[in-house]
Amino acid sequence: MRILLVEDSLAIAEYVCACLVDDDYIVDTVGTLADAEAALATTTFDVVILDLGLPDGDGLDMLKSMRAAGNKVPVLVLSARDELDERVKGLNTGADDYMPKPFAVEELKARLRALLRRPETILETVLKAGNVALDSNAREVSVNRKIIKISKREMGVLEQLMRRFEHVVSKETLESKLYGFGETVTANSLEANVSRLRKRLSQSEASIVISTLRGVGYVLSLKDEI
Ligand code: CA
Repeated sequence: MRILLVEDSLAIAEYVCACLVDDDYIVDTVGTLADAEAALATTTFDVVILDLGLPDGDGLDMLKSMRAAGNKVPVLVLSARDELDERVKGLNTGADDYMPKPFAVEELKARLRALLRRPETILETVLKAGNVALDSNAREVSVNRKIIKISKREMGVLEQLMRRFEHVVSKETLESKLYGFGETVTANSLEANVSRLRKRLSQSEASIVISTLRGVGYVLSLKDEI
């Protein structure tokens, strides 16, 4: 899951980011509305955490224009403005949730999970394909109900492929879901993750297999249909 954190307080941003990365989220942090707009224009996020008081303007104005442009990404507003009318204004502007500062990170995490579970984001908690199940909350993959060992990135690749079972997923989509802005994506690191994932799947006798469509992307399908 990829999150855009719009927060100008470095201390809060670093703290929130550290807690979320710990839970396997990919977090991109920006400190201004201009940078947030640039990030939203180029990248698809699963959730946006939005501070309101930003150096170049009000987060609510950006939220308003996002919604006007048809961007439906779930937005959790994080703000020191905890007066009731401010909350109502935030929710009326199109925020999906509102958290006053100061807040407990555990509550923020719980609210994020709730946002990611909403039907409009079409996110299933447990994905199944063949004899493989991926629990996106517990961050576990099992084959024939036996949990297998898997790295964070391999699980990220598998999750994207399972969500689009039997459909082509482009290399660019996978890379954008797996790596944050600050990270360097080496030319073959996605390939390396896919190849390790293939090995794990075949070693654990999974009934699904990843095919490469050269120059296009990857497809996950049942083994006997190849
Ligand atoms: Ca602020």
